[in-house]
Amino acid sequence: MPRFPPKSRETLVPTCFKCDAELRADDFAIYRKLVNKLADKFLCIPCLASHFNCEESAIHAQIKFYRESGTCGLFK
Ligand SMILES: [Zn+2]
Repeated sequence: MPRFPPKSRETLVPTCFKCDAELRADDFAIYRKLVNKLADKFLCIPCLASHFNCEESAIHAQIKFYRESGTCGLFK
């Protein structure tokens, strides 16, 4: 069997499934919170905003809200 080199970028750096942007912890957290708690693929903030047809700033406001409220285990 041929051995393929590991695709380190795909395995080590999770990316948005729509635009391939690299994702940060907040991106996962808000996607899980707003879309699917058990998600195994994610959207970046700009794609998430277009998914909801809202402004990116609204997504950032949600992240800020959940983090500051301290009640959501996804944001720590
Ligand atoms: Zn994206």
